[in-house]
Amino acid sequence: MPQLLDAVQAAEDCYFDSVSQIHMPAWHTGRIALVGDAAHCAALLSGRGTSLSLTGAYYLTEELKAARE
Ligand SMILES: Cc1cc2nc3c(=O)[nH]c(=O)nc-3n(C[C@H](O)[C@H](O)[C@H](O)COP(=O)(O)OP(=O)(O)OC[C@H]3O[C@@H](n4cnc5c(N)ncnc54)[C@H](O)[C@@H]3O)c2cc1C
Repeated sequence: MPQLLDAVQAAEDCYFDSVSQIHMPAWHTGRIALVGDAAHCAALLSGRGTSLSLTGAYYLTEELKAARE
């Protein structure tokens, strides 16, 4: 920790944010559905959040299209 604090103080800039998770009772209600980070935020170290978001939007679109047919 002392090493980390020294590095932060010596850095020219620093990105800092809090991390939290909200447990929702459902992923959809009525005409509203969650996709992307709101539905399945990946762990910070896993990455690929953009891929998950685009994939979720793609499948939601496909399901909405199929529901109309
Ligand atoms: C520092 C950092 C680095 C990352 N690096 C990577 C990476 O290398 N590769 C990767 O795949 N992913 C990465 N991610 C994750 C990736 O950015 C997200 O997983 C992805 O952007 C999620 O897309 P989203 O559309 O679900 O949410 P967002 O991109 O967060 O979009 C949500 C949008 O909703 C808007 N919004 C919020 N509230 C309201 C409101 N009340 N009314 C209207 N609009 C609203 C916001 O302004 C925002 O534009 C990174 C994330 C961070 C923070």
